[in-house]
Amino acid sequence: MKLTADQEERARRLHRQALVWDSHCDTLIDIAAGSRTLGEKGSRGHLDLPRLQQGGVKVQIFAIYIDAPPYLRRTLEFISAFYRELEENRGKLTLATSMAKIEEAAAQGEVAALLSIEGGEALEGGPAILPCLYRLGVRALGLTWNNRNQLADGIAEARTGGGLTSLGLETVAAMNRLGMVVDVSHLSPAGFWDVLEHSRHPVIASHSNARGLHDHPRNLDDEQIKALAARGGVIGINFAPQFLGPGARLETVLDHIDYIARLAGCDCIGLGSDYDGIAATPGGLEDVSRLPNITRGLVARGYSDSDILKILGGNFARVFSQVIG
Ligand SMILES: [Zn+2]
Repeated sequence: MKLTADQEERARRLHRQALVWDSHCDTLIDIAAGSRTLGEKGSRGHLDLPRLQQGGVKVQIFAIYIDAPPYLRRTLEFISAFYRELEENRGKLTLATSMAKIEEAAAQGEVAALLSIEGGEALEGGPAILPCLYRLGVRALGLTWNNRNQLADGIAEARTGGGLTSLGLETVAAMNRLGMVVDVSHLSPAGFWDVLEHSRHPVIASHSNARGLHDHPRNLDDEQIKALAARGGVIGINFAPQFLGPGARLETVLDHIDYIARLAGCDCIGLGSDYDGIAATPGGLEDVSRLPNITRGLVARGYSDSDILKILGGNFARVFSQVIG
């Protein structure tokens, strides 16, 4: 990518000014396993505090992904490991549970960290313990990973055509009441439409791409993108090469942004890297320190200042301020 000196300067200014927001990483898997820490710049993985700072990230959503039982116990272990990191990185990393806290952290030069749960297995039977998880700081939840659970079918259950169960609908209602953001990434198409019909608040797809550009079940089709956008939701562009398409690199991420922008406008686009949850990364986005390349790419492709600020984080800020307050 070749930018003029003026364009480079404009990209640097916009990146500094933006509330740069990444809506999905799986870094807590390593942190909970004790194989590395957030405070140290690692040679492994894609994301830690030094690299978040280098990449100009102001808001990072940390997902809690549990792949095997005991789900709730392991969820609490992930949260405990995360709290340990907050203690060890005081003044640099802070738990954000509201937009006011996010803005306060950003103003003080701290990275605001939000907790989300990826997969309703953690609830072990429905929304009864949601208020407790809310009090621990969880502000978003994806009802499923790829597989079916008690709340809904994930994208791997294509054969059944199933959506949300009654318990899933109760969970969405409880999340709406509490002020937790519903995340539809990984959810089956029928589940997606159930959530859109029943959620009183805008929803996010924290890490999904455009199926119209690359036909993968983890991506959203045109109708899904338009409907999510029409209800004020946001899609975080995922950097996983298998969801981006063949030969994925920085330009491919920008192609997905272009596609969604043409289809549904710029108000529904954000970044959802999936760092530390993906085996490979696109050239130009090797780890989170490379995020300024997205801004450079948006400048090169002629996006306006206001659209760039929205894509980098303004859109997620809008939804979260509406839902979590
Ligand atoms: Zn995921």
